[in-house]
Amino acid sequence: MKTETETLAGETPGIAYELVVHRLEGSDASAPRVYIQAALHADERPGPAALHYLIPELVRAEAEGRLLGSLTLVPQANPIGAAQHLFSQHMGRFSTGNRINFNRDFPIPDETGLRRLDAPSAAVFADRRLKSRLLALADDHPIVLDLHCDDEGVQYLYIPDRLWPEMEDLAACLDAEAVVLWNAGSDCAFEEAAFAQMVAQARGGDLKGHCCTTVELRGQLDVDPATARKDADGLYRFLVMRGVIADDGATPAELRADFVAKPIANVEMIKAPVGGTILYHVVPGDRVAAGQLVAEVVARPGEPGGAAQVHAPQPGYVLTRRARRFIRMGDDLLKLVADQPSPSARIGALED
Ligand SMILES: [Zn+2]
Repeated sequence: MKTETETLAGETPGIAYELVVHRLEGSDASAPRVYIQAALHADERPGPAALHYLIPELVRAEAEGRLLGSLTLVPQANPIGAAQHLFSQHMGRFSTGNRINFNRDFPIPDETGLRRLDAPSAAVFADRRLKSRLLALADDHPIVLDLHCDDEGVQYLYIPDRLWPEMEDLAACLDAEAVVLWNAGSDCAFEEAAFAQMVAQARGGDLKGHCCTTVELRGQLDVDPATARKDADGLYRFLVMRGVIADDGATPAELRADFVAKPIANVEMIKAPVGGTILYHVVPGDRVAAGQLVAEVVARPGEPGGAAQVHAPQPGYVLTRRARRFIRMGDDLLKLVADQPSPSARIGALED
């Protein structure tokens, strides 16, 4: 494995960021090339934890001559967000310099297939240059995995519907509980931009063998050795099944019997009707009936009518909920993968 530390200039004198990039060279030029990044939202740490266990396995495969495909790994893809703390609170999702989500506004190809990336010396903010660099690193890799997590949630994936069900093997190897399939924009998240480039380079042709996804490795607090090891093992198994690593010991995986696969239009973003303290009556992974009580939001503790009840608008599967138990009126309270499309479904990312 070769490790390179790239430097990203900050916007002001004396400030620079370091981006660590690992490259492993496979022995078979026809084997798939794989790009994996983690912690683009810098406060989402299950990805780096999984890579902590996966990388030594890849290094061993390379040393033993079992690495067929080449890999590019960026285990901590956002040094800008990693450094952002305000009054002791880490703020890893948005650039505090310009309020832009670190996983939105990636450059995508225009209708002629041309994509304009910002050069390392371009006179734009560092987060924009970082986005261009990450996309350039991911180029020419038919397998692109962007490791994220939710607030609190099951393990689930966002996948372009054109790559489903071919990508079932990844969901099965990871033992994921659900997949959300998209076919329109997601406000130019990394996954959308990387996939758009794959499509442009395939010139509308065959996407067989391609894989592009945002993997939500459960919730922000689901970071522990056993979980990280399980995720690393799942990723390793997937890489063996795709012919990136040779390992006779690995076997194909099956999707969970209760696996949920639905279009993104079926996701109900249930909002808090009032501000206050959240009392959830369901946990991620629960199936709920229409009208079932999913949460109360306590605005005035102990007073008659002091809590607003929130019910499931239709039957479905509880995908995620908030990690913190204080919420504002209008904030997202819960993601429900409903059986039918949500009346409030719209094109774009589910969240800011
Ligand atoms: Zn994220």
